[in-house]
Amino acid sequence: MPIATVNPATGETLKTFDALGPEEIERRLTRAATAFAQYRTTGFDRRAELLNRAADLLDEDRDDIARTMTTEMGKPVTAARAEAAKCAKAMRWYAENARELLADEYPSADDVTDSGASRAIVRYRPLGVVLAVMPWNFPLWQVVRFAAPALMASNVGLLKHASNVPQTALYLEDLFRRAGFPEGCFQTLLVGSGAVEDILRDPRVAAATLTGSEPAGRSVAAVAGDEVKRTVLELGGSDPFVVMPSADIARAARTAVTARVQNNGQSCIAAKRFIVHTDVYDDFCERFTAGMRDLAVGDPMRESTDVGPLASEQGRTDIEELVDDALRLGATAQCGARRPEGQDKGWFYEPTVLTGVTDSMRIHREEAFGPVATVYRVSGLDEAVTLANDSPFGLSSNVWTRDDAEVERFVRDLDAGGVFVNGMTASHPALPFGGVKRSGYGRELSGHGIREFCNVTTVWHA
Ligand code: NDP
Repeated sequence: MPIATVNPATGETLKTFDALGPEEIERRLTRAATAFAQYRTTGFDRRAELLNRAADLLDEDRDDIARTMTTEMGKPVTAARAEAAKCAKAMRWYAENARELLADEYPSADDVTDSGASRAIVRYRPLGVVLAVMPWNFPLWQVVRFAAPALMASNVGLLKHASNVPQTALYLEDLFRRAGFPEGCFQTLLVGSGAVEDILRDPRVAAATLTGSEPAGRSVAAVAGDEVKRTVLELGGSDPFVVMPSADIARAARTAVTARVQNNGQSCIAAKRFIVHTDVYDDFCERFTAGMRDLAVGDPMRESTDVGPLASEQGRTDIEELVDDALRLGATAQCGARRPEGQDKGWFYEPTVLTGVTDSMRIHREEAFGPVATVYRVSGLDEAVTLANDSPFGLSSNVWTRDDAEVERFVRDLDAGGVFVNGMTASHPALPFGGVKRSGYGRELSGHGIREFCNVTTVWHA
């Protein structure tokens, strides 16, 4: 894939970039390793100062970087501004909390005396240079949720961003540089995915984190496994959104629309499969379909737009193929299932609700990375749980009920990294984020996220 900014709302190529050659990659790896040797000796206060300054700069830049993101990947500019604000908030959260999250731990003397220790300490030390392979869908947030904890833990970062968001990628490097981080602490490598293997195998790189598709994750994890390097993988999702009879149906249906079409439907934690109890199915379906039909689809730079284009022509083709396959095998489109009329340029697709989906259809198992929902009817709790778990993915889940026993059952039995009760899944700096099954492993954010790339060191005193 060429490294280029191609506006998804028009299909126009606005700017292309040359990939870095081997010599420049080598220079940057050296710079990263040199930076780490020095940066690891800085204290929490200094690192927090730098990260807070990055947050302030990001706040100042919010409108500009939001327009860049929208131009590169098509999200509504209002959502792009919110993303930038969320990144600044996460930076401040880690600046404030990292010291406590990484504080030394002292196992009780009683527990360790039979090891011969007079005392022992567990210390969280940095791992070194961490390679971040990141996707285009939240081009700032995906990177910041790696970079903020990594930099606060004294690691240094190398960013291989998706090839369609090069300007956002370069902005991030510039942001950390302007904030005062020493040279080499955070570098963007404009390279294609073919360059990742050699970079990851380089002995100066200690670990990798990847957010993206399953094939990309598998490939990076295979190389990392071969090199015995730690990885965190945040891959796709096909999150269930279960609605039980006791739920507030009007609110559930309104939230369902947002949960499905946020980021033009291209979010790993978007609710994608709506599993609705038969007693409230018709009511929910009617409200949900009406809400999806009412969305304003169009120019993502317009303040009133709800849904912009898909990020790439391939992305739209993938979605069209999933929907066409379902329709051919007997599903019904309650709305959408086509390109908007009169929108010849750009990669737009109408918000779509499919019913009558069966397990013979691809969309039942695959991730629909666009504004397409499937709605299923179930007759009770057991069926809801079984269907919710009938997916290769296990990122998060949403359950709507006022019945505490039902909540407990979902929390016990749903195979997912999150259970959001009477609300939609969203990431937050203080809450761990990540999945099970094909959605990946490891956690981002919170104390769990910052410790993923730490050397948990036992210090033992005779
Ligand atoms: P990819 O997984 O291909 O891209 C994500 C990142 O991984 C990019 O930086 C990409 O680089 C890189 N990459 C791709 N293949 C490899 C590889 N073999 N080795 C190393 N790095 C690699 O996502 P796509 O953009 O192609 O989207 C395809 C599908 O992935 C979506 O439809 C969706 O299902 C899923 N996806 C999930 C996301 C999530 O948030 N979990 C985000 C994005 C996509 P480059 O751009 O240069 O190819």
